[in-house]
Amino acid sequence: MATRKTTARTPRPKKCPDCKGAGEIAETVRVGSARKLRETRDRQAALCLPCFGSGHAPTD
Ligand SMILES: [Zn+2]
Repeated sequence: MATRKTTARTPRPKKCPDCKGAGEIAETVRVGSARKLRETRDRQAALCLPCFGSGHAPTD
């Protein structure tokens, strides 16, 4: 039997650690070919893949 920490039960689902519940992550925009790859200072919002944009921590 596993001992579980019985802290206060949270009714809300766990936030996704990758996007912190936002459902999207900021990705560094890369431009150019693979040879001449450079990062721009711009960041674009991308769908958080682990939670598929839901913002909830994936359950396993
Ligand atoms: Zn996420």
